[in-house]
Amino acid sequence: MKELTCDIFIAGAGAAGMSAALSACAAGADVLLAEQDAQPGGILNRCIHHGFGLGYFGEDLTGREYAARFRARLAGSAVRLRTGTTVLSISEDRTALLSSADGLTLVRFRACILAAGSIERNLSSVPVAGTRPAGVLTAGCLQGMLNCGGHADIGERIVILGSGNVGQIMARQLAQSGKTILAMIEQNDHPGGLARNHRECIEAYHIPLRLHSTVTEIHGTERISAVTVKDLRSGETELMECDTMITALGLLPDRSLVSHLRKDGSFPDWLRLCGNCDLIYDIVDSLTVRAEQTGAEAWESA
Ligand SMILES: Cc1cc2nc3c(=O)[nH]c(=O)nc-3n(C[C@H](O)[C@H](O)[C@H](O)COP(=O)(O)OP(=O)(O)OC[C@H]3O[C@@H](n4cnc5c(N)ncnc54)[C@H](O)[C@@H]3O)c2cc1C
Repeated sequence: MKELTCDIFIAGAGAAGMSAALSACAAGADVLLAEQDAQPGGILNRCIHHGFGLGYFGEDLTGREYAARFRARLAGSAVRLRTGTTVLSISEDRTALLSSADGLTLVRFRACILAAGSIERNLSSVPVAGTRPAGVLTAGCLQGMLNCGGHADIGERIVILGSGNVGQIMARQLAQSGKTILAMIEQNDHPGGLARNHRECIEAYHIPLRLHSTVTEIHGTERISAVTVKDLRSGETELMECDTMITALGLLPDRSLVSHLRKDGSFPDWLRLCGNCDLIYDIVDSLTVRAEQTGAEAWESA
């Protein structure tokens, strides 16, 4: 097995990992940045909509444009970037195990930053009865399929369960491509996500928003054919025929690589979390600023 050493090892090269790496490197650290995807950017690479960079660059960029600016900075820096490289584990003895097409590599580091982003809450987090046929997918999965995978053949009559930011952004994209959004179904008395997204994605495209409601059952065998929608105040139910259901139930920090290192409620001194794996950020600009601080702090204390 190959071995590498570095001052700061960073797992994940989304907005957070790239920003932390650049800042630690600028402060003088030898930084190794590992990313499982073919190129850095994370969630940003899926985001073809505008709304990024107003605070940080003073410009209204798409997510992809925002990521490209940081990739250009990385290319001009001394950060050692390994793409196509999955971090398999991070251990107490300050080592990380990486897997890539070259095989396994053991990295020895002085400090580590976890920047592995988030995972989407999915149907397993809500009590929905019925079958699990094709045509039920998360908003983030749909975003990846449409904007990165070139798959456009999703259904025509769509129900969205939950009203988080990702769901709102995707509702707009689906409406723009001529799909029928039957309803966005939200259990609370107000929509989730940013007010800006509600205005620009839901209201502007006249997407029917059903508050105080949920989906209690999925119908269909091979493909979804309908859902049962329940009004949580009256208890009344309605069968809504559809061929696709998107879940937009929110994001959760992904700390799976380091959860075993947490003792008495805190992580070891040499480990820091930044970006969505620390706290879910709706706006990337504030995440970037905080990640830059984390990169510098990690090097100061290494
Ligand atoms: C749909 C959507 C719309 C948004 N819209 C806006 C907007 O309009 N304006 C705005 O300012 N912000 C927006 N945001 C918020 C912002 O984009 C995110 O908060 C930010 O990009 C998250 O960055 P991150 O680096 O924490 O996580 P991610 O982008 O998820 O990056 C994590 C990276 O870690 C990698 N990784 C994970 N595990 C491993 C492993 N084991 N080994 C190697 N690599 C690993 C992943 O591949 C990924 O590249 C939006 C977010 C979403 C989801």
